[in-house]
Amino acid sequence: MAEHESLEFGKADFVLLDTVSMEEFMANLKLRFEKGRIYSYIGEVVVSVNPYRAMNIYGRDTIEQYKGRELYERPPHLFAIADAAYKAMKRRNKDTCIVISGESGAGKTEASKYIMQYIAAITNPNQRAEVERVKNMLLKSNCVLEAFGNAKTNRNDNSSRFGKYMDINFDFKGDPIGGHINNYLLEKVSGWLGFHIICVFHLQLLSGAPDSLLHSLHIKKDPKAYTYIKIGGSGNTSHIVLLHTAFMIGFTGDEIQTVYKILATILHLSYINTDHGPFYYLNICLLEELDLLSTKEENVEKALLYRTVATGRDVIEKQHTTQEASYGRDALAKAMYERLFCWIVGRINDIIEVKNYDARIHGKNTVIGVLDIYGFEIFQNNSFEQFCINYCNEKLQQLFIQLVLKQEQEEYQREGIPWKHIDYFNNQIIVDLVEQQHKGIFSILDEACMNVGKVTDEVFLQGLDVKLAKHAHFSSRKLSPTDKSLEFDRDFRIRHYAGDVAYSVVGFIDKNKDTLFQDFKRLLYNSSNPVLKGMWPEGKLRITEVTKRPLTAATLFKNSMILLVENLASKEPYYVRCIKPNDVKSPLLFEHERCRHQVEYLGLLENVRVRRAGFAYRQTYPRFLQRYKMISEFTWPNHDLPSDKEAVKKLLQGCRFDHDVAYGKTKVFIRTPRTLFSLEEQRAEM
Ligand code: ATP
Ligand code: MG
Repeated sequence: MAEHESLEFGKADFVLLDTVSMEEFMANLKLRFEKGRIYSYIGEVVVSVNPYRAMNIYGRDTIEQYKGRELYERPPHLFAIADAAYKAMKRRNKDTCIVISGESGAGKTEASKYIMQYIAAITNPNQRAEVERVKNMLLKSNCVLEAFGNAKTNRNDNSSRFGKYMDINFDFKGDPIGGHINNYLLEKVSGWLGFHIICVFHLQLLSGAPDSLLHSLHIKKDPKAYTYIKIGGSGNTSHIVLLHTAFMIGFTGDEIQTVYKILATILHLSYINTDHGPFYYLNICLLEELDLLSTKEENVEKALLYRTVATGRDVIEKQHTTQEASYGRDALAKAMYERLFCWIVGRINDIIEVKNYDARIHGKNTVIGVLDIYGFEIFQNNSFEQFCINYCNEKLQQLFIQLVLKQEQEEYQREGIPWKHIDYFNNQIIVDLVEQQHKGIFSILDEACMNVGKVTDEVFLQGLDVKLAKHAHFSSRKLSPTDKSLEFDRDFRIRHYAGDVAYSVVGFIDKNKDTLFQDFKRLLYNSSNPVLKGMWPEGKLRITEVTKRPLTAATLFKNSMILLVENLASKEPYYVRCIKPNDVKSPLLFEHERCRHQVEYLGLLENVRVRRAGFAYRQTYPRFLQRYKMISEFTWPNHDLPSDKEAVKKLLQGCRFDHDVAYGKTKVFIRTPRTLFSLEEQRAEM
């Protein structure tokens, strides 16, 4: 008997639940988790629960079991969805994408790695050297990105601090020929705490790097020397070695050196203490340590202590207050790290992009995209970052609705099958609430940032109260004074598709403006190190030439999300929904309330409902016969009916599945997976 039919493991596909309710859903999820079945389906969506232990289900033999098979033929697995995306690409020449979502620690990045490994394993059967080289490069590029983009947090020891979308390009044979990465950087923790990664880097350097390197970077051997940063990671010798080899995919020696120098500079900056006034700190900070930037010593000093301001035609130098100096230093370190990260992504893209592929000779190259992006976040305190992340999830949900429902609708029409309207909540109204020009929250925020004179978070909140007073999905303490869920005066609340979230406006303005004094940009642009200089092109402008404000963080994020969704919409989507079973990384514990919450905001119940309203499975008549003809005397070994369609009808009537199917022009549609599993079972018994 097929594993997915054994009740002992629960229902492999949530569409098979007797009734669609939260209780049943949760009971099934829990049962499967406890039986070690970490993957389940909702139709073609994979639901994954982090096992927090090594599972023996990713080896070569498992890969072989999924290769070229249909989704329902084997127990639910990431490999099945990877194979489905690969087949769609290879057989039907479709660009596809796999969208992986879930909260921090739910297993998104691990899932994306297994998917990549699967694709690497099933491609290039002829072991062509060039393809092997490309595959190796794609996998290693991941390693570099992780080293710089991940950090230890209290939710996840290896937390990705950025959203990642990676395209893998394939040639007409279905072998990888290159790739491209987009990063959606969002430093989730502000201030120095956000730089755990720097600290990890430091410890890694200490444990793995030769003394000469440390010396050249002026790094002290004693980790306690950098008391200003909180120790976040654990030193692991293997990391720096891995990183070093991963860099070999095409980074030059000078580039690697510059990367190390920038990281070391950020460490040194952290050592500068501004508590005793701006002058004091430069006394204790050895300016020579900052010579790693290859700029003049006095310029570094000047940029840290003064800023240049244009007043009319005059240009004056204004000395920082202590507070400004410390703000400037933090902003500099943060900006250097962000630039570095983006530069690394850019370089990786240069290295892995498709080269020497002529579509006129080889045919169109196709793409599988993998998106590993933060899921819905609802914390005790929600700020600008959660707001952006949750907006991102609204966008993805909108895409999901459009793609799944639209695709279904179109196919039914094409095949001449009556379409039954499905009732679902369309979240476009919330997407608009956030992103609409002039009226949306992002626009109101940008306006507040441009205010002359008073630019405070309160001004922003007042703007919201005035402009959104009547919006059904918005409220604030002022608009609904009796609302208990709004604890503080400075909270506003959004009714998201996944539930209500109260955000505190504190910090919105600062995080949105994300300003870096122009003096720093000029400082780094004037570095004699060409790699560093290249990261700061806008430093070229003189103070009197700087007229345009840089785009705000909100606008940048919004624009990148719009592009992302456009890109995904042009592809055939597959989904992986990851769930974190508990907060203590235990392989045994299934915390009911935590999981229920995630099921809720991943919209899984709604997903089951939509899926049940339509047809779970469809297949062309010839291919259907090819697979199942042996279970009916009318079709085995060949049929003498006028068409394959008639033959399929006869076969299904014979099995008494007729009530559960519809016959389209070219395809048979099966409503519930149960029927399909029964067919599979009969086939297995033959
Ligand atoms: P973040 O949003 O913080 O980046 P994430 O969803 O990417 O989180 P992962 O880093 O993929 O989370 O997973 C967190 C940890 O959970 C892993 O380091 C690993 O220990 C464990 N884990 C996740 N998936 C699996 C799996 N399939 N098998 C075994 N362990 C897993
Ligand atoms: Mg991750």
